[in-house]
Amino acid sequence: MEKGCIFCQIVNGETPTKILYQNKHLVVFKDINPHAPVHLLIVPKKHIRSINDLTEADSAIVSEMMMAAKQMARDHAVATSGYKLFINVERGGGQLVFHLHLHLIGGWH
Ligand SMILES: [Zn+2]
Repeated sequence: MEKGCIFCQIVNGETPTKILYQNKHLVVFKDINPHAPVHLLIVPKKHIRSINDLTEADSAIVSEMMMAAKQMARDHAVATSGYKLFINVERGGGQLVFHLHLHLIGGWH
């Protein structure tokens, strides 16, 4: 838990954010500012600032994020039509919240 981190607050249930999915290591919720009909964020419960801050010990979490993305794509009916997965890294890479998250966007026609 990082003080003042909005995603840590969401992980801890301190906001009204609707959690779409969670397991021991991650949560999934909708992006507050969606760029597509489906725009989900897959967020590790552990506070990791960005990809730059990953350690070997986080390998399993990163793997789980990808597996959750695959499942969320199916659950939100974009698996077959297609979707994008991306991670913004630091300000120059477009990262706005400094708690690692994977974007899943899709649902265009
Ligand atoms: Zn955090």
